[in-house]
Amino acid sequence: MKLKYLEITGFKSFAKKNTLHFDRPVVGVVGPNGSGKSNVVEAIRFVLGEQSMKSLRGKAGSDLIFKGSKMLPKLGRASVSIAFDNKDRVFSSVGEGPESIALTFDEVVLSREVYADGGNKYLINGTEVRLKDINEVLSRVHIGASGHHIISQGEADRLLSASSKDRRVMIEDALGLKMYQYRIKESERKLEKTRINMKEVSAQRREIVPHIQFLKKQVEKIEKAEEFRTELSSLYDEYLKREETEIARLTEALGQEEKVLTLQLEAIHSELNALPKNTDTPVDEIHQRERIELQEKEQALRKVKDELTRALGRLDGMIELENRKKEYTHTEEVRIPFSKVQLFTNEMITSIEEALSSDTLSDIHERLSVLKNHVHSFTSTYETHAPVEEENTILLDDIKKEQLLLKEKIDHITQEEQVLISARRTLDAKESAHREARYGSEHKKLELSIKKNEITNALSLLAVKREGLTKRKTDFTEEVQEGSVLVGQQIFSYRTFVVEGESIITQEERRKKIERIKIRLEDSGSAGGSDVINEYKEVTERDAFLMKELADLEDSIKSLEVLIADLKSTLDKEFKNGVEKINTEFQKFFSTMFGGGDAFLSVIVEHKKKRKDDEEEGETLLEDELEFERGIDINVTLPHKKVKDLHMLSGGERSLASIALLFAMSQVNPPPFLVLDETDAALDEANSKRYGDMLENLSAFSQLIVITHNRETMSRSGAMYGVTIGSDGGSKLLSVKFEEATQYAK
Ligand code: ATP
Repeated sequence: MKLKYLEITGFKSFAKKNTLHFDRPVVGVVGPNGSGKSNVVEAIRFVLGEQSMKSLRGKAGSDLIFKGSKMLPKLGRASVSIAFDNKDRVFSSVGEGPESIALTFDEVVLSREVYADGGNKYLINGTEVRLKDINEVLSRVHIGASGHHIISQGEADRLLSASSKDRRVMIEDALGLKMYQYRIKESERKLEKTRINMKEVSAQRREIVPHIQFLKKQVEKIEKAEEFRTELSSLYDEYLKREETEIARLTEALGQEEKVLTLQLEAIHSELNALPKNTDTPVDEIHQRERIELQEKEQALRKVKDELTRALGRLDGMIELENRKKEYTHTEEVRIPFSKVQLFTNEMITSIEEALSSDTLSDIHERLSVLKNHVHSFTSTYETHAPVEEENTILLDDIKKEQLLLKEKIDHITQEEQVLISARRTLDAKESAHREARYGSEHKKLELSIKKNEITNALSLLAVKREGLTKRKTDFTEEVQEGSVLVGQQIFSYRTFVVEGESIITQEERRKKIERIKIRLEDSGSAGGSDVINEYKEVTERDAFLMKELADLEDSIKSLEVLIADLKSTLDKEFKNGVEKINTEFQKFFSTMFGGGDAFLSVIVEHKKKRKDDEEEGETLLEDELEFERGIDINVTLPHKKVKDLHMLSGGERSLASIALLFAMSQVNPPPFLVLDETDAALDEANSKRYGDMLENLSAFSQLIVITHNRETMSRSGAMYGVTIGSDGGSKLLSVKFEEATQYAK
């Protein structure tokens, strides 16, 4: 890696653009006092990212900008660029991630600008970057901020006068250990950040723990309720299925029963309807009427028969009389026994009464003719008919004829009577049959009524049962409804439930069980379950996430601690090695410079307690947790002198010792370049020569930029720039020859 050129514009005394080419191993810068040589060194410091205004000999950023001269105006911006050769790609990229800048160019130019307001701008190959990026790029080539490779004017003994701690920093820097330091710092920062994160995460966890516990209890309740719900649901399945089946069965059976009974009742009704009605003309009455009719007819017949019989009797009497008359013929006087007369008169009276009571004229007529005949026959019986013997015989014949007629009539009536008798018998039979029939119907009616009653009772019973069944159905529907509130749609799973086998427990027991679980479910009071479960899930997930975070953070803390320890131990080793190597060179350079003597660096360790705020509360720090700080002590013994204290050395001696150490450091780990601003100022001729030799040796490893008034040094420079104040009042850089340069030699 090589420095190519430095470009200064508006920086300090350099008003206009001036370029310094580093095309030789040793480039000398010469010029009169106050021309701006040191400004060149500061320009280098500036462009490499120096933040200390003091190191730049200013108070504010504006002090770095050309302030104007009689001829030139004051400027608003200072700009310095330094170019590195990057053919070997020492610089490949800068930054990380999407912001990284590829540095795949043969030349890498770092630039820095400062504005009147003090603002700074950093650029790499014209692209604006952060200071961090500049530092990163430079740390790759071991150019650190300690600036050990830039020795300013009057700072030749800087290494000697620095504190042991600062010396250590410079030596670490020179040994190229800055990178380790940088990485340690970075890792420590990360560690600190991680610890803070961990504290935050722990706090967050602590915060959610009670909430988790609360939610957990809720969730347990909900889960318990869910168990109850599941149990309830399965109980419901069987209970409801059985209930439904039972209700259906009972409804069917009831319907059947009702149907059967209704049919029976209808049959009874029609049977009852078929039985004779009371409203019909009573059969008895008909029979009665018939009977009266028959009796009347019989009476009438008997009356006629009696009359006929009496008439027949009279005829018999008349025949007897006629026969007696024959015996008593010719007697005038006729004797008639009183009883006969009395009989005759009685019969007369009866006949007359009968005639009187008759309705019809023909009847009266008939009866009167009978009466006439009667009277006739009586008188004729007691008349004396002597002379009329023949007459009597004729009469007798007539009577006999009539007797015959009467007998016929009586026979006829007797026959009629027979007809009536048989009719009466038929009527009796009919009456008796009717009576019997009526009795049977009454009996049937009674029987049917009893049956009807029974059926009606049974139907009422069924109605009660139906009412019970309706209630059971309503209960069932209500239960399903209530159940759906408790177990949701799951309640309807009973529809597909298959009841298996006989159950040892009853529906009632099942119902009681259901009621018990319902109560427990209500007690568990798990409303809004899913919300709580979701929240619990979220919070536990969050907790798990935090735990994972903590574990990850713990892991990264561990690995960072390991990394830091590794880096520290490497740094430690490298540092010790480096110091040893430096000591070897230091001794050599020192004895070369002083013609003998001893010089070496010693590492001192200063233990100190970690800062209070780093301590974990209430914990005592372990031994290895104690912070220690290294420092470097310089030990010199001049030849033939007993003086060891650095303060006791003369200016020249200090300068020499300092240069010896600087060169030793540069020898061990050569920096890409070394800027020496009048480091040689205090040297006498002999030492100037030694100094010149050492410069030549060093230039084999590092580019050297030397600002000098020393002729010897000038003679060792491959190229030389003269700095002058131009006629316009601004510094100018011009390439000069040795002869021209020597005019500035002291
Ligand atoms: P010496 O040989 O005496 O050490 P030098 O060549 O190193 O001198 P510098 O110290 O580099 O000189 O330059 C100092 C000069 O730069 C001073 O004259 C100072 O006025 C001038 N200077 C410093 N800052 C500015 C600025 N901002 N604007 C203009 N000139 C400035």
